[in-house]
Amino acid sequence: MSMPQKKKRGELIVLSGPSGVGKSTVIAELLSSRRDIHFSVSFTTRQPRTGEADGVNYNFVSREEFERMIAADELLEYAEYVGNYYGTSLKVIREQLDQGVDVLLDIEVQGAAKVRERCPEAVLIFLIPPSIEELSRRLHRRNTDEEEVIQRRLEKARQECRECVRYDYLVVNDAVVSAAGEIQSILQAEQSRTQKRLHLAESIIGQD
Ligand code: ADP
Ligand code: 5GP
Repeated sequence: MSMPQKKKRGELIVLSGPSGVGKSTVIAELLSSRRDIHFSVSFTTRQPRTGEADGVNYNFVSREEFERMIAADELLEYAEYVGNYYGTSLKVIREQLDQGVDVLLDIEVQGAAKVRERCPEAVLIFLIPPSIEELSRRLHRRNTDEEEVIQRRLEKARQECRECVRYDYLVVNDAVVSAAGEIQSILQAEQSRTQKRLHLAESIIGQD
């Protein structure tokens, strides 16, 4: 008699890294081959950049609305970053995970620490640039922020990269395709964890 399959709960995957390291670019590459992953669209009070769409890159909201969401406990985590609020909707994440869908969060380090506290089983991946000079080049090339904002983001980058020791995996974004491939391998390995596969061995080793 075949054993009933345990209903798989989705995996919560957190990707952090300094602004401009290439998180969005690597995520786009990853999602092009892993269409089964749900990308969590965060809420933010920052102004949309050219090319960004409401509901796609972020849900753009006012400070008032964001503070209402904090007060109503609607966020899994939130943080203030370079003068703006950013946060993750608890409801959407919970629904997806309950349906067995893997969920990917692109969030900064304070938010990731909060996720670690609330969801210890989450997989935390930190993306670093090949060098600080390359990070500066990428921030300038993106051409979306004022020089002063870029300088603040570069200063913050050094502090943020120190937090990488709290993450499960460290990936260098040298070439986009390789970085995305490495993340795919990490996710594959996570699926093979004994604790997640014990149900496959039950019929062989028996149940007590
Ligand atoms: P983040 O989401 O981390 O803020 P982006 O994905 O917006 O960063 O990338 C910042 C800039 O760096 C963009 O112009 C992007 O095209 C470029 N970029 C991203 N990854 C790489 C890479 N591996 N090599 C060269 N340029 C990259
Ligand atoms: P950006 O303004 O460059 O889009 O994002 C700035 C930083 O905010 C990035 O490090 C990004 O990962 C982070 N961020 C985006 N969404 C969230 C979120 O929902 N929560 C937290 N804590 N950080 C977020």
